[in-house]
Amino acid sequence: MSNDKKRVLVIGGGPGGYPAAFLAADLGCEVTLVDQKVNPGGVCLFQGCIPSKALLHVARLLHETREAGALGLGFAPPTIDLDKLRAWKDGVVGKLTGGLGLVGKQRKVRFVEGRARLLDAHSAMVAKAGDGAGEERIEFDDAILATGSMPVTLPFLPPSPRIWDSTKALELAEVPGSLLVVGGGYIGLELGTVYAALGSKVTVVEATPYLLPGADRDLVTHLQKRLAKQLAAIHVSTKIVEAREDGDGVRVKLVGIDLPELEPRFDRVLVAVGRRPLSKDLGLENTKVKLDARGFVDVDAQRRTAEPSIYAIGDMAGEPMLAHKATYEGRIAAQAIAGHPAAYEPRAIPAVVFTDPEIAWAGLTESQAKTEGRDVRIARFPWSASGRATTMGRNDGLTKLVIDPQDERLLGVGIVGVGAGEMIAEGVLALEMGARATDMMLTIHAHPTLSETMMEAAEVYFGHSPHLGQKPAR
Ligand code: FAD
Ligand code: NAD
Repeated sequence: MSNDKKRVLVIGGGPGGYPAAFLAADLGCEVTLVDQKVNPGGVCLFQGCIPSKALLHVARLLHETREAGALGLGFAPPTIDLDKLRAWKDGVVGKLTGGLGLVGKQRKVRFVEGRARLLDAHSAMVAKAGDGAGEERIEFDDAILATGSMPVTLPFLPPSPRIWDSTKALELAEVPGSLLVVGGGYIGLELGTVYAALGSKVTVVEATPYLLPGADRDLVTHLQKRLAKQLAAIHVSTKIVEAREDGDGVRVKLVGIDLPELEPRFDRVLVAVGRRPLSKDLGLENTKVKLDARGFVDVDAQRRTAEPSIYAIGDMAGEPMLAHKATYEGRIAAQAIAGHPAAYEPRAIPAVVFTDPEIAWAGLTESQAKTEGRDVRIARFPWSASGRATTMGRNDGLTKLVIDPQDERLLGVGIVGVGAGEMIAEGVLALEMGARATDMMLTIHAHPTLSETMMEAAEVYFGHSPHLGQKPAR
């Protein structure tokens, strides 16, 4: 070490890298954070979580005004000023990423705009961008890799400005008349919802028999019902196998069941078929860092790689590829480097799909339990019986608990409904604290709230829900 402070290099300033850099600085390390963007934020803030949620907020507003007629409220059809909307969305991103730049400075984290490549286990070369362009060699005691992921591409699709990935779709350059979304996962459904609200005729094709294959079917059903009204079509068990430009659009060949047309034409195509770790061209071959078969970096409980001075976190270090998992790992790696005891051992990582209704789950899902042959009990509280959901005109929801019948511990929580993404936090805390169904039932929840449905689902387990005529799930 050059002085008594550990020199830490963090490569990648996303929700894994920037919290890791800031915490390492708080813990007394001398930290350099390198990212290709002008400020920290990564994919999540610049091209992912934040711009997509800003636009989903707009989509929800649009749908709510359209549906307000049922409540006796009339609004004129909305006008959409796309330039203003785009500027607002970019402003949200700029505010948050600019804020992170300032916070980094306050923490005395040195931010370098550029692209880093490892030279060996203790040094990297940065090709700097921006004002101080040129090369800089950076020596470190420990490094944290947090370079994230990139979209999976379908090799048979031609390069075309009419075929988008999520980054292109989030630019909001235009609202196409028709949009084909390839992939009925997180991105396909979130961005499909946005463009449908803005006025595109959206068709979703999903290769597997189900939308959101990782989520429980009874949760997805509620979303699918609503999507069926908002989207032009949803085709499951369907794949795109060919595409070619056709005027200012794209003609595609689809293979599936019950397709009205095998070679339909769309103005634009959004491909959202998953993401893969960004672990190439990082100079890993100059170190002992190992990758698994899918390109994820192998790490231990401290997120240390096979090269003891190098750690890896976030999307590049394994599933789930979610921002909050990256942030959690960043904390572990920074603590480990600073010599504090830390291990990555979460009991539950929440997953939230920010559609309308939202779907959220944590811990064991019902379908996982089935696949693993585990004996579990499921307690469901339908939102048709929720007072709060009824006051909002949004009974399309369900809260379910996956319970171990041996000791009545909660093993998993699943929610579909408005605000499910906020509600899941209670479930995650319950799972982390090893709560039992009784704990959930005996915790007083405010009335009338959607969160009461968590308590009521526990009451369903014991057969005591005051709002349902039902038998115990035990
Ligand atoms: P990233 O956020 O990918 O950041 C990596 C950074 O490293 C980038 O800035 C990149 O430029 C930089 N970098 C790469 N290579 C180098 C190099 N050699 N030198 C210097 N810098 C480099 N997750 C959620 O939890 N909630 C959501 O709502 C959500 N919505 C999403 C919506 C979309 C459209 C997308 C695409 C993703 C979404 N995600 C969401 C996933 C989330 O964005 C990722 O899980 C998260 O960003 C991963 O964080 P990370 O720190 O691993 O990497
Ligand atoms: P995804 O894995 O969520 O969904 C991809 C879908 O595409 C799957 O359902 C898959 O079966 C389908 N598919 C694959 N190949 C296909 C093909 N040839 N034709 C038709 N369908 C095909 O991936 P994504 O939507 O691209 O998102 C990538 C990742 O980003 C997510 O897995 C998630 O980790 C993260 N993300 C999270 C959020 C959030 O937390 N709200 C939002 C967006 C993205």
